[in-house]
Amino acid sequence: MTEPSAHPSLPIVRTPAALRAAIAAWQRQGQRVALVPTMGALHAGHLALVTKGLGLADIAVASIFVNPKQFGPGEDLDRYPRDEAGDALKLAGAGCSLLYAPDVATMYPPGFASFVRVSGLPDLLCGRVRPGHFDGVATVVAKLLSAAQADVAVFGEKDWQQLAIIRRMAADLDIGTAIHGCAIVRDEDGLALSSRNAYLSADERARALALPRALLATREAILGGMPVAAALAAGERTIKAAGFVRLDYLELVDGETLHSLGAPAPGARLMGAGVIGTTRLIDNIAL
Ligand code: AMP
Repeated sequence: MTEPSAHPSLPIVRTPAALRAAIAAWQRQGQRVALVPTMGALHAGHLALVTKGLGLADIAVASIFVNPKQFGPGEDLDRYPRDEAGDALKLAGAGCSLLYAPDVATMYPPGFASFVRVSGLPDLLCGRVRPGHFDGVATVVAKLLSAAQADVAVFGEKDWQQLAIIRRMAADLDIGTAIHGCAIVRDEDGLALSSRNAYLSADERARALALPRALLATREAILGGMPVAAALAAGERTIKAAGFVRLDYLELVDGETLHSLGAPAPGARLMGAGVIGTTRLIDNIAL
């Protein structure tokens, strides 16, 4: 059952069965379908995933679900920004054909008892300060991929660790959907777009720039021959001096295994995360 949405050209389905039926109907007509999972409060970064999906497939389907299982106690589940009508307009404008927006009781009905846990990768980086977060992510993404049976699914490189975990899970569980990454979309000044940027005051927004700038400066230093540890220490000082109340990590890692690197290597990625005011921001760049 589809229902009319705020935008007449974007139908909404709210059950896995309706999602599956709509996608299967397209696939029977020989059309390839791309799934773009999101938590809503959409910005140009999310819409870039839709555009990327339309480059890989004929039809783009987005999902919006603020997944309680990936928020820890004391995190921002209750205040996470929600705007389904505005999001539907943006998705239709980007060429998306269907929105899947299930409610919590549909995703996790009474008696729900299954979890997907990737081992290893979720213990590193963000996993150290957000225990259980990536189990919630892996579980909801497994459900979305399983319900949709799309040909491809697109995730942002902004959440590099999440993308690595999803690739691992999809390969391990023989999920037939091809997983694709999409480059980070940034504001003109370099701050990575994030739904959580809406929490930042003007002052915090200005100081948050220290994170992408420190990533760039650290990369320059490492490529210029500075030892990795010294370059990371200088980057950390810059971020803290900008007023980040907490720096969770600034690390050079292997882009696939996410293991720390003490020296530059092919596929290396610089990863950073910290808290400004009460908002936790993450970012990363290729070395
Ligand atoms: P979220 O709604 O924050 O869960 O994000 C949904 C998807 O959009 C994830 O795959 C994110 O990695 C991706 N995404 C979020 N922000 C950006 C961005 N600035 N650039 C590219 N992808 C993004």
